[in-house]
Amino acid sequence: MAVIGWIGLGHMGGPMAAHLVEAGHEVVGFDVDAGMAERAAVTGVRVVTDAATAARDADAVFTSLPRSEHSRDVLIGGAGGRVGLFDVVRRDALVLDTSTVDVATSRACHDAAEARGIRFVDAPVSGGIAGAHAGSLTFMLGGEESATGEAAGLVGPMAGHVFVVGGPTAGIAAKLANNLMLFITLQASSEGARLAEALGLDPTIFHDIATVSSGDSWPLRTWYPVPGVVPTSPANRNFEATFTTRLAEKDLSYALEAGEAAGLDLAAGRLAMERFTQLIDEGYGDLDCSLVVKYVGRDGRT
Ligand code: NAD
Repeated sequence: MAVIGWIGLGHMGGPMAAHLVEAGHEVVGFDVDAGMAERAAVTGVRVVTDAATAARDADAVFTSLPRSEHSRDVLIGGAGGRVGLFDVVRRDALVLDTSTVDVATSRACHDAAEARGIRFVDAPVSGGIAGAHAGSLTFMLGGEESATGEAAGLVGPMAGHVFVVGGPTAGIAAKLANNLMLFITLQASSEGARLAEALGLDPTIFHDIATVSSGDSWPLRTWYPVPGVVPTSPANRNFEATFTTRLAEKDLSYALEAGEAAGLDLAAGRLAMERFTQLIDEGYGDLDCSLVVKYVGRDGRT
């Protein structure tokens, strides 16, 4: 069994680390939020007071941090000479970033790790908080073969599916392309749901039809924005977040940046982005991103 350092014990990192404890690993964790750290301690994570202490003696170090800038700061180091974990971990340690970051940040982390002779894997996940608790996340791994093989074994207790996607940044590329499709199909499901309703259809019957027809998609089955049709839909609970609008806006902005850098015209993605920005501007950033359905109705009702 391994000694594992875990930095960022939030909504995803907390339950993910708990699965590694259950699998028999010694997990040494750190979070800047003492409340999150305490919750992780209850699951058996040995909580310490700084990231370097969590990482220094570990065989493998995981990060699960909010945004690109946090991954850069924690792994590479920050302004003012703040030391990053790549300068702290053992030379033979494996470092995995499970955060959703932009491609440039992932590339910078690979370059910084390589310069120090440390193995690094971009290891973003899909499946949300429910998947983190259930240990059924999809992992998308990018890195050198010498690292991704070991990474694939290590993430097993947290995963339903593990894909070794390719070389450095291939994991984050898959994650961003997947989430671009997610948010576009969310907009499509919202418009289809409203049109069906406006044309007088029973929403449950329409949903039954669409899920076995060519309009099917993950948001249709999971986030259908009409209350009382799908048990998992945030529409049943006043759009209490299962995936916040702020998080959706972040992921989509990284996907759009990558598209722009590649010279692509991601028109539908840009429309989805406008809707998320509007929700955030109107104060709904912490509600579920499926609240975009609000803008389909003529009167803005939900
Ligand atoms: P979260 O905000 O709940 O957790 C992040 C944690 O990192 C917080 O507890 C925060 O206190 C901690 N943190 C911030 N800076 C830190 C630092 N310098 N050192 C130590 N800890 C620090 O976010 P989350 O929902 O758990 O998401 C984590 C990552 O996983 C994000 O990149 C997100 O995009 C990605 N993700 C989230 C979901 C989801 O459904 N929530 C799904 C897939 C991927």
